[in-house]
Amino acid sequence: MNLNKRTLKYAATFLATVFVTSGAVADNEVITTDTHRLERVADGVYLAQSTARIFNSNSLIIVNESDVLVIDSHITPTKARGLIASIKQITSNPITTLINSHFHYDHAHGNQAFGPDVQIIGHEYTRMKMAGKPLEEGTFMGGKARNLAYLKRLQEEFETTEDAERRAEIGAQAKVLAAHVEAWKEIDPVAPDVTMNDRLTLFRGSREIQLHFMGRAHTGGDLVVYLPADKLAFTGDMMLEGPSWLGDGYVDEWVQTLENLKGLDIDLMVPGHGSPFTDRNRIDYVQAYYTDLWDQVAKMHKEGVSVEDAAKAVDMTGHKKLGITRVGTDPLAVARMYQRMEGVD
Ligand SMILES: [Zn+2]
Repeated sequence: MNLNKRTLKYAATFLATVFVTSGAVADNEVITTDTHRLERVADGVYLAQSTARIFNSNSLIIVNESDVLVIDSHITPTKARGLIASIKQITSNPITTLINSHFHYDHAHGNQAFGPDVQIIGHEYTRMKMAGKPLEEGTFMGGKARNLAYLKRLQEEFETTEDAERRAEIGAQAKVLAAHVEAWKEIDPVAPDVTMNDRLTLFRGSREIQLHFMGRAHTGGDLVVYLPADKLAFTGDMMLEGPSWLGDGYVDEWVQTLENLKGLDIDLMVPGHGSPFTDRNRIDYVQAYYTDLWDQVAKMHKEGVSVEDAAKAVDMTGHKKLGITRVGTDPLAVARMYQRMEGVD
C-alpha cells in the first residue's frame, strides 16, 4: 500500500523516518522506531506493527490526555518490550491499561512484559483460556511446531546452498528465527485481571473507549474496541480483510456476530493482522465466505467425508473479492467445523 510514499522530515529528533503514505488509508503519518512501524490512524491513535520478518499481530496504541492504553501485546515478551519502548518514543504518558482482543498467543503472550501495574482487560472467556493451560492450547503448540520445523528447514537449506548471496540470506533469516524461538522460552502467560462479558466503556480524559463482545466468532471471547469519536474499530481477528484462522472458531455463529458488528458506525477498521481498511463491504464478503464454507462442509460432514478429503474438496474460488484462487482449504478449519457439527463447544 506504500507505492507512492515520500519521505518527510519530522520535527522530533528521535524519529528515524516519517512517511506520508497513500493507500487504503490516506496520508497517515508513519513513525519508524528500531522495532516498529507506528501508523497514526486517528488523533493520538497508532497502529503498531513489528518491523521484524516474523509472524506477529497488530497492536493499537491509544494515547489519552494522561495515560496510554494498548490493545494486544504481541507474540512474545521480547516483541512486547519493543512495543513498550516504541510507545515511549511517542509519549511520556504511562501505560495504564492493556486489552487482549482474544487469547491467542500471537496477541497475548507479550502480556508479562507490561508488568504488574498495568491492568489487563479481557473477555471472561479469554481469562478462562489464559488462566487455564495456555501453553497446551493447540493453536499455540501448532505455532511453536511450525517455528521449529521452519528453522530446521532453513538450517538444512543453509547447509546445502552453494550460492553465497542466497546462503547469506538464509543464514540471516535463520538467525532471526532462532532468536525468536529462544524468545518463546521466556513466555509465562499472564491472564487478564479485569474481565467483561458483553460491554465495558472506559472514559479517559475526553476519550470514550468502548469494548464490545458481539458474539462468538474467531474464538469464544473476541472483543472489538470502538472509539466512537473517531468511528474507528479495532476488530482483532474476528474481522480481517479476508477470512481468519478458523481452528478455534465458531463459523456457525460468526456470520451473526459480524452482522452485530455492522451495528457500529465504523469509518475505519483496524484488524489484528494486515492493514487498516475503510470498505465496510468487506464484512459482507467475509460473511458470504463463512456461510458458503459452512454449507459446503456441513454437506460433506453429513455424507461422511473425511476431514482430509473435505478440506481438499472445499471450493471457495467463487469468492473473487477475497482473492481465493485455489480449491481446497485448511484441514484444521474443517476439523474444527466438524467438531461444531458434532456438538463440541
Ligand atoms: Zn487469533
